[in-house]
Amino acid sequence: MKGNFNNQTVNSSIQGVALLDLKRQYAVIKDEITDALQRVCDSGAFVLGPEVKTLEKSIAQYCQVEYGIACASGSDAVLLALTAAEVGPGDEVIVPSFTFFATASAVSRLGAKPVFADIDPVSFNLSPADVSRKVTQRTKAVIPVHLFGQMAEMQLLNTIAQHHGLYVIEDAAQAVGSELEGRRAGSWGDMGAFSFYPTKNLGGAGDGGLVTARSEQLAKRLHLLHVHGMEPRYYHSIIGVNSRLDSFQAAILNVKMKYLEGWTMLRIQNAARYSDLFDDAGLTQTLTLPKTLPNRRHVWNQYTVRVPDGRRDDLRRCLAERKIGAEIYYPLGLHEQECFRHLGYRADSLPETYRACQEVLTLPIFPELTEAEQRMVVQGIKSYFDADTQRQFYPSALPAAA
Ligand SMILES: *Cc1c(COP(=O)(O)O)cnc(C)c1O
Repeated sequence: MKGNFNNQTVNSSIQGVALLDLKRQYAVIKDEITDALQRVCDSGAFVLGPEVKTLEKSIAQYCQVEYGIACASGSDAVLLALTAAEVGPGDEVIVPSFTFFATASAVSRLGAKPVFADIDPVSFNLSPADVSRKVTQRTKAVIPVHLFGQMAEMQLLNTIAQHHGLYVIEDAAQAVGSELEGRRAGSWGDMGAFSFYPTKNLGGAGDGGLVTARSEQLAKRLHLLHVHGMEPRYYHSIIGVNSRLDSFQAAILNVKMKYLEGWTMLRIQNAARYSDLFDDAGLTQTLTLPKTLPNRRHVWNQYTVRVPDGRRDDLRRCLAERKIGAEIYYPLGLHEQECFRHLGYRADSLPETYRACQEVLTLPIFPELTEAEQRMVVQGIKSYFDADTQRQFYPSALPAAA
């Protein structure tokens, strides 16, 4: 009890900014969530059930795609999509290295080989030119990731895929509601993988995921695969897994769906405000701010800047001292991870991925973030660079670095 009390006092008296504060969102919808969970308890339908059906329908509609199949996590969504595409031993799947682990691990788990392609330095998304270079006779699929909430170059990637007969599986875990030319993430590829992990734009109270599909054939396979390939009960035509969404999660997500557009608009507004504040602070030459490419709606799951000249870690330390949350997504490319060492990449095999890993820093952007907090973030960064300039020009005026 005492510890809790102290924490609350500290949080409200010391100025700081959280990278993500889920409690603010919950405070607004608490009663609706409680009612929804109560309804599930009363219904006794805990696995799949009507709440899940409702969610599958409304997300498919939101993503402008015909089918949605809920599952246990975003990682499972990628795995199920690859399984539905019959990816297996001997196959290669082209994926970015600058992404969350699950994009590539699903490929390995099916006995296929992840082939890492480099990114475009502006959008952090898969470079279509590098994808083109990496297609072989064995390539079966490509997984563009819409990183940080901005869509990859889907027109070019779809053209490449069509030319070589590849499946396109969008990893849209960070990009629900993101658009390219007015068409939403999850509706461009053969399938799309979504995550309801709490930090995503549509986050549940635990794990959850969903696969979108454009064809009825793939949707049917996915429906089978996530319930052991069982239809009718205890008859198995294919070997599936148990990857279902709980009704509790679906009930919570059904409540949150009503707010998703509003929250997304707030994220977009916060991103625009950062642009103005960094501009006012004279920092736009020092930092590289994230950029929304033409014909896109960026949904800002993360707001990620580049900090050049090896100063990123130092800046992050300085922000931490001021209790300003900042995170590194991602510090090491997948092509350099120990578990993928056997694939034979070197650090500089993917130069843009390597450089991004050295430079990126993600700042708070969640919908409930206040203008005052954004000013504190920008001010924190400004004081670091002001002090840094001083060190550079008047090194003797400051005590030697410890
Ligand atoms: C979060 C995430 C996943 C995995 O989702 P989980 O629900 O955590 O399993 C996959 N790919 C990307 C790009 C992600 O950000």
